[in-house]
Amino acid sequence: MSDHTRSSAAQIAAALADGTTSVEVTQAHLDRIAATEPSINAFLHVDAEGALATAADVDRRREAGESLPALAGVPVAVKDLINTTGQPTTAGSRILEGWVPPYDATVVARLRAAGLPILGKTNLDEFAMGSSTEHSAYGDTRNPWDTDRIPGGSSGGSAAAVAAFEAPLALGTDTGGSIRQPGAMTGIVGVKPTYGGVSRYGVVAMASSLDQVGPMARTVEDAALLHEVIAGHDPLDSTSIDAPVPSVVEAARRGDVSGLRIGVIRELAGEGFQPGVQSRFDAAVEALAQAGAEIVEVSCPSFVHGIAAYYLVMPSEVSSNLARFDAMRYGLRVAPEGVDGPSAEQVMAASRDAGFGDEVKRRIVLGTYALSSGYYDAYYGSAQKVRTLIARDFSAAFEQVDVLLSPTAPTTAWRLGEKTSDPLAMYLEDICTIPANLAGLPGISVPIGLADDTGLPVGAQLLAPALADDRLYNAGAALERLVSMPVLQEVAR
Ligand code: GLN
Repeated sequence: MSDHTRSSAAQIAAALADGTTSVEVTQAHLDRIAATEPSINAFLHVDAEGALATAADVDRRREAGESLPALAGVPVAVKDLINTTGQPTTAGSRILEGWVPPYDATVVARLRAAGLPILGKTNLDEFAMGSSTEHSAYGDTRNPWDTDRIPGGSSGGSAAAVAAFEAPLALGTDTGGSIRQPGAMTGIVGVKPTYGGVSRYGVVAMASSLDQVGPMARTVEDAALLHEVIAGHDPLDSTSIDAPVPSVVEAARRGDVSGLRIGVIRELAGEGFQPGVQSRFDAAVEALAQAGAEIVEVSCPSFVHGIAAYYLVMPSEVSSNLARFDAMRYGLRVAPEGVDGPSAEQVMAASRDAGFGDEVKRRIVLGTYALSSGYYDAYYGSAQKVRTLIARDFSAAFEQVDVLLSPTAPTTAWRLGEKTSDPLAMYLEDICTIPANLAGLPGISVPIGLADDTGLPVGAQLLAPALADDRLYNAGAALERLVSMPVLQEVAR
């Protein structure tokens, strides 16, 4: 195909330097979106006019001989949890339906400054709470490999858009796995940077001690290129780290694991892991060994408590962060039925009842309970202690190895509706990804082929110490080269 929708971002950047216009490339992606969306529903909002205006501006500047940033003119999609002026930001919730933010998130401002046309806003689980995108208030997103299946979540819209060639690049957010897991489910690359590595200013908060924004792309190099656009200190985010951004593009181009010590996490295998996932994973480990990596089995015994700790810490923070949706300052306002002259509190209660979905309510209730006096020590306090144990397991492991490796998720993509009535079954899908969030460490998911038993994409996850994001890109690029991942031919309709 010559319309560049099948090209990597790096290839598009090269074509742009060679005379192709960003308007052509951006229009091709808008056409692809128009053709594909009826079967995928990855986008909640498409901004053709805004994207083409940015593209035309970049083309004009290039024509005038200006030297431009590496990704100038390469289109991108943005998870609808991230503020964009001129485009709505719903967080996948009715409570923010129609809300247009008065300011850009720092990451969006950086995309604009680097000249990336923003194609639109992608679907997600409401307030990023979920692993399947089925908790969106605006309908399910479907997996391009099989449209009867979920694309993972919560950044399922971004993952599906990139996998279905609607966008070469996208931004997601990852609180417990929401970039890496949908990346694995749709056969693309997803990166959760070190906590504090990317600004969260203007990103709707889910759980502030865990949330990170990161890149999603079809190649490791493309993810690195986008990483360098968005990363780096931001005085507007008090958790932002004031340190140089690791050279991730250089690392992605290196892709050399010879002599690298890779630790395979013993606890993230066995019961509950789909055989087709395990066999792809074993083959990937073997390929890394063949390429000269030193494979070491490491034990992280506290990881088995990760889900329990996360599902106390996260809802506690959710219950506090979501208190701001009070129907007074912005968003949906509903009059309680049959009440004459309702009080502010009654309006708040009616609006929150109408505006929040069941999963969000479940977590607000859980979190409020975990923080309540008398239960705080037993629940929230114990969970914080487990969090410390998990961080210690990581520290001990990184004394033995340079990076850690596991499957990204225990299964491949499940059928729509299969787990919606069983929240616990859905939560168990997060077992591999949660430890990195609890410890603030970076992680990447790289596609490693299709599972023999389901024919669906499998991802492997690499984890590194804080601020060593470049190790992930180096090892991830090697893995990408060593395994064969089939290219999606066409979206099933
Ligand atoms: N699936 C996890 C959850 O439901 C992770 C969500 C996320 O990373 N935003 O909380």
